[in-house]
Amino acid sequence: MDHEQACELLPGYVDEELSLSEAREVERHLADCPACQDVYEQQRQASRQIHEADLRVETPPELVKRIHAALPLRRSLWQRLFGAPERAAGTVKVGGASLGWAPLGAMAVSFAALAWSAGLYLSTPPGDTHLTEEIVDSHVRSLQFNHLYDVISTDRHTVKPWFDGKIDFAPPVIDLAPEGYPLVGGRLDYLNGRAVAVMIYRYKLHPINLYVWPGNDSGATPKLEVRNGYHLAHWSAAGMNYWAITDAGEGELDGFINGLRAHQAS
Ligand SMILES: [Zn+2]
Repeated sequence: MDHEQACELLPGYVDEELSLSEAREVERHLADCPACQDVYEQQRQASRQIHEADLRVETPPELVKRIHAALPLRRSLWQRLFGAPERAAGTVKVGGASLGWAPLGAMAVSFAALAWSAGLYLSTPPGDTHLTEEIVDSHVRSLQFNHLYDVISTDRHTVKPWFDGKIDFAPPVIDLAPEGYPLVGGRLDYLNGRAVAVMIYRYKLHPINLYVWPGNDSGATPKLEVRNGYHLAHWSAAGMNYWAITDAGEGELDGFINGLRAHQAS
């Protein structure tokens, strides 16, 4: 082995990555080459210092907080990573684009937080309280991540077919522009272990998220509530569950629901 070959192999030799025969040849060359002996000694020391150095960095609490804030809905994240418990993923076709609500970077970083957040998931209360929280989380997330829409359109004839093949039901898509609540788009979301359709409306500058999925869980009379400063209402009609949420006032939400129900009744 000549000097140049030895120089190339020295780092591997220091890190004990060479084959036995390569290592023997490097050793043989080292014995006769003071230049290589110098380099070897330097590299060996550098390698030892790196190994001995405490290079672990504690995550700053502020960063942990920000990751946590950026974490998508805990339960949905759990389900996306490990599968929904009730409905097989195969029954709901979800295109890659529709999963784009979470920046992948945030997902990668959040793995460490996942085990910890799973504990929170398990301790969340059941029933409507839980669903209310999910809806609020989802609503906030849709605004935070600029993920209000998967399809942007003020035309219900564009929004309605967009859902075809993406979910296993056909959500009623109603335009309420004449009532002052124009339809502005739609998207897919995940709530309560299932894919749901979301229609996005606006009242002036306030977005209204309307979640729809099959079921008859809420009764015909809308139940209104306030959570985290948002107004929510849920009801069931014609075999569909509806949840509406907005930062607009209760009167505005009321007007929206009345408009919607008038169309549903007609
Ligand atoms: Zn040499």
